[in-house]
Amino acid sequence: MDRAIVKENMQKSESKHNIFGFTFAELEQRFSPKFRAKQIYKWLYVYYAQDFLQMTDLPRDLRNELEQGFCAKNLEIVRVEESRDKSKKYLFRTQDGYTFESVLLQMKEKQIDEDGRILRSEKWTICVSSQVGCKVGCAFCLTTKGGFQRNLESGEIVEQVTQIKAHNGIAPQKRVNIVYMGMGEPLDNLENVAKAVKILGELNGLSISARRQTISTSGIAPKIYELGKRNLGVQLAISLHAVDDHLRSRLIPMNRNYNITQVLDEVRRFPVDMRKKVMFEYLMIKDLNDSLQEAKKLLVLLEGIRSKVNIILFNPHSGSRFHRPSLQKAREFADFLTHRGLLCTIRESKGLDISAACGQLREKNIQIVSCGTEG
Ligand code: SF4
Repeated sequence: MDRAIVKENMQKSESKHNIFGFTFAELEQRFSPKFRAKQIYKWLYVYYAQDFLQMTDLPRDLRNELEQGFCAKNLEIVRVEESRDKSKKYLFRTQDGYTFESVLLQMKEKQIDEDGRILRSEKWTICVSSQVGCKVGCAFCLTTKGGFQRNLESGEIVEQVTQIKAHNGIAPQKRVNIVYMGMGEPLDNLENVAKAVKILGELNGLSISARRQTISTSGIAPKIYELGKRNLGVQLAISLHAVDDHLRSRLIPMNRNYNITQVLDEVRRFPVDMRKKVMFEYLMIKDLNDSLQEAKKLLVLLEGIRSKVNIILFNPHSGSRFHRPSLQKAREFADFLTHRGLLCTIRESKGLDISAACGQLREKNIQIVSCGTEG
């Protein structure tokens, strides 16, 4: 990594605020008259501007003030990899030289027109990172191998979305779903994540309602409570992965601090939208947690919680000691639950060929020749 460039960028950025880290109300307070906030938001979130000088309907003085005190391009896209299934993995670099990954998932959405014809359109989900690295140390995850570097700021979380939308020409009004399932444990960076949820939901901005944003946690029980108290309206996903504490502690060491009962107790207290369910992620690993015995225990554990189980087949990576179960096993498990009234799906593994699937994102040590290099 070219340290000289990183150092120069750091010096420049230290004195500047990331403009994507401001709520609409904060910008209204900062600039007068108030409608300036609306103009700035439009440039950032409708025109995807990355340079204040482009904002031609702002007075020159204000453009200069923004230029001197704020930064509208805080992340560089270093590399984009595209999967056979059209998923894209983005490698971003922060101003202080850290790299992290985010993923764009593309699915087909079925729509019926007025004449009853079935139409298909694109449906987008952006999987954002909340930290560079992670402290949780899940046994199956590559992210954690590089250790924890730092939290991402709210503006850096928001900018992943604007840059990915802009890079793919996704129209501003086109709805996308956000999942906080990239690198990091979102609840270990709750302040920044909560603020990002709010900024992404701003009606004058990207307008991604909290209902379309899912925070996925490995189960920091007291933070689930804190998140619930904020009443943001977000969806909750819990990485459960096991039905007994022994196996869960092996997979997610933090289970020794907050065991399954403690996590589920907090989930029961969480304010879930009446139309929604709590998602339980179940990473299925061959011969470890793929039997019908486990399915039975899962039914008992989730009793009384409006839940949906999402089975993810383990994505093997080199050096991993776990194996992928057969699809047949996963189907039997899912059918068992579904026939007993617990909604269960098997998640399509997107982006497997570019290591963009769950638990495969990581910081990269890469040589960067110049800012903004994309390849
Ligand atoms: S799976 Fe998530 S919480 Fe666990 S180590 Fe990886 S990034 Fe952290």
